[in-house]
Amino acid sequence: MTKTKPDIPVVIVGGGPVGLFMAICLLKEGIECRVLEKRKEPVPDSRSLGIHPVSLELFDEVGITEPFLRAGLKIRKGIALTEDKKLGEISFENCPKPHNYILACPQFTTEKILREELMNLDEHALITGATFQSFLEQEQFVEVTYSKDQQTNQRISSNYVVGCDGKNSLVRQQASIHFSGKRYDDTYIMGDFEDTTKFGPDAAVFLPKEGLIECFPLPNGMRRWVVKTDAYIPEPRKLKLATLVQDRLDYDLFGVKSTMLSSFGVQHFLAETLAKGRVLLAGDAAHVVSPIGGQGMNLGWLDCRKLADSLVFLKDKDPGIAGQVFQEYSESQQRISKKVAQRAEINMALGRKQKVPFLRNLFVKSLLHSPLKRKVAELFTMRGLYSWWI
Ligand SMILES: Cc1cc2nc3c(=O)[nH]c(=O)nc-3n(C[C@H](O)[C@H](O)[C@H](O)COP(=O)(O)OP(=O)(O)OC[C@H]3O[C@@H](n4cnc5c(N)ncnc54)[C@H](O)[C@@H]3O)c2cc1C
Repeated sequence: MTKTKPDIPVVIVGGGPVGLFMAICLLKEGIECRVLEKRKEPVPDSRSLGIHPVSLELFDEVGITEPFLRAGLKIRKGIALTEDKKLGEISFENCPKPHNYILACPQFTTEKILREELMNLDEHALITGATFQSFLEQEQFVEVTYSKDQQTNQRISSNYVVGCDGKNSLVRQQASIHFSGKRYDDTYIMGDFEDTTKFGPDAAVFLPKEGLIECFPLPNGMRRWVVKTDAYIPEPRKLKLATLVQDRLDYDLFGVKSTMLSSFGVQHFLAETLAKGRVLLAGDAAHVVSPIGGQGMNLGWLDCRKLADSLVFLKDKDPGIAGQVFQEYSESQQRISKKVAQRAEINMALGRKQKVPFLRNLFVKSLLHSPLKRKVAELFTMRGLYSWWI
C-alpha cells in the first residue's frame, strides 16, 4: 500500500549544539521530531565556549537556562591591552538585564546539558549512533535513510528534514545547495590552561605587535588561550603556544597544566539558500563564520528559533504558503550571518600583525574611552543583529 502520511513531522540530521536546540524548540511547541546523530557521546573537546545573552534569552523561553548558569562562568568585562599596558575595557554590565554577561561554558558541557534537556522532553527524540545516508523527496513527505550501529538502510519519513550536520553537511550536498565563501589567511593555535593570571572572571585581549593573544576564563579554574600564528600549525604543541605567549607577553605558561590544544584556520561560507523544498538548513550546515568573536554556535541557535517559529506558523496553514515562509527564514538568517561575519572580520583585522601598532592601539584606546564603547559591548554580545548598522 502506498504511504500517504509521514512517520513524524520533522527529522533533524545532526545532534550537535544546533540540532539538539532545534529539537528542544520544536518539542516545546508540540512538534514531534527525531534527531539522527552519528556520535554516541557529546563532542569531547571544549571548542566553543561563549554563550551570548541573545541565546540565554532563547534558553529562557524554553526553560533550559538554569543548568547552564550552574555549569558556566559569567564574563562581565573584557580588558584590552598591548603587551604590557592597558588600553581600556568594556563592561557588559550596562547591557540589558538579566543576562548582562557572556556565559563561558565548554562545548562538551553545552552538548551534555542540551542532550539531557532533550531527553527530559522526549526520551525517544535523540537517536545516537545513527548516520544519515540519503533522503528522497516525495510529493507529500521526505524519506530519510540512515544506518544505526551495524544496521544499514533504516528509514524514517517526515514532512521536513532539517540539516544541522555541520559545515560539511551531507544534507546540504544532497540537496545540491551551493556553499560559497572563502578561507582567510589568518591562523591560530589555542589551548586550555590552568588559570594562573590575575584576570579572574574577566576576558583579556592582548594586541602585541606580532599578533593577537586572547585569554578567556573557563569554569573550574581554567583559561582558554588563543594565539594568532603566522601559518597553520598542523601538530599543535604546548611548547609552541607557550613560546609565542612568552615572546609576545613575557608571560610564562611552560609549567602550567593544560588540557586541550588545537589549531584552526578561518573561513566564511554561506549556503545559497537555507530552504529548498522539504529540506531546511541551520547552524554550520548553513553558514560558517570565524571563531574569532565566538558567535557561530549562537548564530545557529538564532536559526533554530526562527525556523521553529516558521514551522509552528505553518501547522494549520495551507501548505502552499510554506515556500514563502521558508524563503523569509532563509533571507533573514543569511542577512544576520553576513553581519556576524563582518563583525568577526573587524576583530581579526585588529588582531593581525601590525607595522605601526601605535595607530591601531590609539584607535582602540580612543574607542574604549568614547561613548561608542557601549556599541562595542553590543557587538561583542551579538546585539543589534537585526538593525541596519553593523
Ligand atoms: C576553535 C573554535 C572555537 C569556537 N568558539 C565558539 C564560541 O565561543 N561561540 C560560538 O558561538 N561558536 C564558536 N565556534 C563555532 C561553533 O563550534 C560552531 O558554530 C558550532 O559547533 C556549530 O554547531 P552545529 O550543531 O551547527 O554543527 P556541529 O557542531 O558541527 O555539529 C554537527 C553534528 O552533526 C553530526 N553529523 C554530521 N554528519 C552526520 C551524519 N551524516 N549523520 C548523523 N550525524 C551527523 C556530527 O556528529 C555533529 O554532532 C567555535 C569554533 C571553533 C572551531
